[in-house]
Amino acid sequence: MSGGRSLREATTLRVGGVPRLWESVSTQKQLEEVVRQSNADGALLRVLGGGSNVLARDGMLDCVVLEVRNTHIQSTEDGDVVMVTAGAGVSWDQLVVYTVERGWWGLENLSAIPGTVGAAPVQNIGAYGTELSMVCTSVTGFDRDLERFRTLAHHEMQFGYRDSVFKREPHRYVIWEVVFRLSKKPLWQLSYKDLETYFGAEKQPALIEVRAAVALIRAKKFPNLTQVGTAGSFFKNPVLTMEQYREVEKQVSDLPQFPTGVPGFVKISAAYVLDQMEYKGQRSGSVGMHDQHALVLVAYSGATAHEVDVFAQSIEKNIEEKIGVRLEREVQFFP
Ligand code: NAP
Repeated sequence: MSGGRSLREATTLRVGGVPRLWESVSTQKQLEEVVRQSNADGALLRVLGGGSNVLARDGMLDCVVLEVRNTHIQSTEDGDVVMVTAGAGVSWDQLVVYTVERGWWGLENLSAIPGTVGAAPVQNIGAYGTELSMVCTSVTGFDRDLERFRTLAHHEMQFGYRDSVFKREPHRYVIWEVVFRLSKKPLWQLSYKDLETYFGAEKQPALIEVRAAVALIRAKKFPNLTQVGTAGSFFKNPVLTMEQYREVEKQVSDLPQFPTGVPGFVKISAAYVLDQMEYKGQRSGSVGMHDQHALVLVAYSGATAHEVDVFAQSIEKNIEEKIGVRLEREVQFFP
């Protein structure tokens, strides 16, 4: 138990105030005790993972911040299938390295994403054509409503595009561990342009090469979290009906469309739209958009959550006025 630590130090956007209380747990018993105590106190309890997808509010915050430090990794093998169970406190990229080193396919396209294993299902992290929901079979967490640990099967997690039951009910579950189904057989997913360009004629690269390629591409495009305050992509890619797409296309030239898997709906790139609207490198006071990537909001030294929010709102308003599409945020307010 400790107080005084600021969310500015614990989140990658590097803004935010001081919560009333910090708790960290490394056993199920400790977790249960903290949750029961907060329930009894009627306290607002929020779990913080790597802090890489949140906009922490400014000032003194009347909440308990819980960090889950379960860092075990276990696996079982059955033929070509490997089931991996990883604790919520494991760094996401450490898990990717762990599986790639052992020759297990499934997580390589999700290389170099900041954050923890416990945070990954919340927003169903995705990159280069792979989504966590494709390899995650179950999640065990403490259900605050039922006051007991529960294992949620795939269908119960309601995965969607950067979405899940954990995001829709942010106060309900504290994720303890996540189970993945990986494969010893190669499963190449190289359809995204950046990877296709990188590998050229090589259609069957080694697993370690895929990881290295993804890490390198990301390092070139996304800012280094140790050097600048950012939460990666700030907005989601809008999903539109074909009718909406045709309207937007009139305002944004050569607008690419991507399949969603749902007939009649297409996905457009928010980065492309913001780029066309010349947001890349644009700055307002201590906040701006990255000069290499128009979807990546950057908070410079001294920025506040309020400034980030105001800047993001101005973008949302402008885009809505220009193309009739309301951008949705990927980054969520905390607490
Ligand atoms: P990009 O390759 O410049 O593409 C821009 C957008 O177009 C992407 O967001 C992607 O949607 C979509 N897209 C491109 N090729 C596609 C294809 N073949 N099929 C379907 N959709 C396609 O993207 P980027 O900004 O450099 O990011 C690279 C990857 O990292 C993307 O997959 C992005 O989503 C991912 N990423 C994830 C997070 C996160 O989970 N918070 C943060 C940053 C980047 P998708 O977003 O659906 O892939």
